Amino acid sequence: MYDHILVPTDGSECADEAVTHAFNLATQHDAEVHVLSVVDARDISHGAPAVSPAQIESTLRENAHDMTDAVEDRGADTGVNVTPAVEAGIPDDAIVTYAEEHDVDLIVMGTHGRTGLERYLLGSVTERTVRRSSVPVLTVRTDTDAA
Ligand code: ATP
Ligand code: MN
Repeated sequence: MYDHILVPTDGSECADEAVTHAFNLATQHDAEVHVLSVVDARDISHGAPAVSPAQIESTLRENAHDMTDAVEDRGADTGVNVTPAVEAGIPDDAIVTYAEEHDVDLIVMGTHGRTGLERYLLGSVTERTVRRSSVPVLTVRTDTDAA
């Protein structure tokens, strides 16, 4: 039923929890897990005047690679096949497009991420992905979620 599971990550605790669920499902279904970290294009253009957009983008890309590396390490420990991806763009656009282009049949992501206020039911990236994705989206919360 599930062959390609996509976990988008912003390196947050909630995304880590989503990885745990994605790995469990991947093990049961013998699926491949794709991990995608999106460098938010709006963060590139909003940088400090003294720093060039290219420098900001390269730092953000390094951070994003650190996030996907961490998930790859977890995959190696767990025996799950992980394909990493880093892209720049608007996160929900990049997530939905990646899913369409890679035959993804399930997206697993956190209810919240790094920046959100927990009084909202869902973070904006998750809300927009749920609205727009043509494949099911499994949302995972952490114990510390207040909502
Ligand atoms: P907001 O961003 O709206 O202030 P938030 O940070 O709490 O709130 P989201 O950004 O929607 O919430 O994060 C929810 C989930 O979306 C994360 O757990 C992660 O799975 C995914 N996600 C968020 N940002 C990115 C990103 N830049 N790249 C990949 N996945 C992301
Ligand atoms: Mn966020």
